[in-house]
Amino acid sequence: SDHSLQYPIAPHAIDWSVHYPAFSGTGKAPEFADVGCGFGGLLIALAPIFPDTLMLGMEIRVQVSQYVQDRIAALRVTGQADDPDSTSYQNVSIVRANAMKFLPNYFSKNSLSALFFLFPDPHFKSRKHKARIISPTLLAEYAYVLRPGGIVYTITDVKDLHDWMRVHLSAFPLFEPVDEETLRSEGKGPIIDAVYTSTEEGKKVERNGGEKWLACFRRIECH
Ligand code: SAM
Repeated sequence: SDHSLQYPIAPHAIDWSVHYPAFSGTGKAPEFADVGCGFGGLLIALAPIFPDTLMLGMEIRVQVSQYVQDRIAALRVTGQADDPDSTSYQNVSIVRANAMKFLPNYFSKNSLSALFFLFPDPHFKSRKHKARIISPTLLAEYAYVLRPGGIVYTITDVKDLHDWMRVHLSAFPLFEPVDEETLRSEGKGPIIDAVYTSTEEGKKVERNGGEKWLACFRRIECH
């Protein structure tokens, strides 16, 4: 349960310099959010590729989020040891949070350029579908925190969940499907590659010879 967790009352109440000390005074806030980030593989892969972009993982499990926090701290130290001026991994952080309940407490309106849902828990049974991280009610929140032009990246090895996410995201008026080739032509190839291969769950699917289903959506302007 998440009853014992403390949540920020609103994004403006968060002191991001605690998470990203190297960026304190810049006024920057996270632009990439990895929802249910697990062991943090995506964030660790993307951090060096976009060194000026702040990224935040959200993970509900205590031990897992602690592990990611320790992993980032260690990478920052090694980076500094190799190069004292290094800002490596300074742009990545994690919170333990229930993203399904508190996303808008962390991210202000139109603040994100990328939102990741990588290999989310499938919740197979119909009566559990409302527990899915992509659901009609939550889509309004995702559209709120994304800026126009921002991208939702989803990937799963569960075809039924893939279809579910595609149907709901496509039906929502503020999202339009965008294919992989288009995103690659816009320079987002490294992001797509990381989405496919960098996470722990993605690697597991690969080891087991499973298929991966990608679906991406662009947040459009409201008229
Ligand atoms: N994205 C990671 C990957 O690809 O390796 C992890 C995938 S794992 C199957 C799903 C993760 O979502 C788990 O670590 C789980 O604890 C987390 N999770 C589930 N519901 C969540 C929620 N409401 N808020 C934050 N994290 C959640």
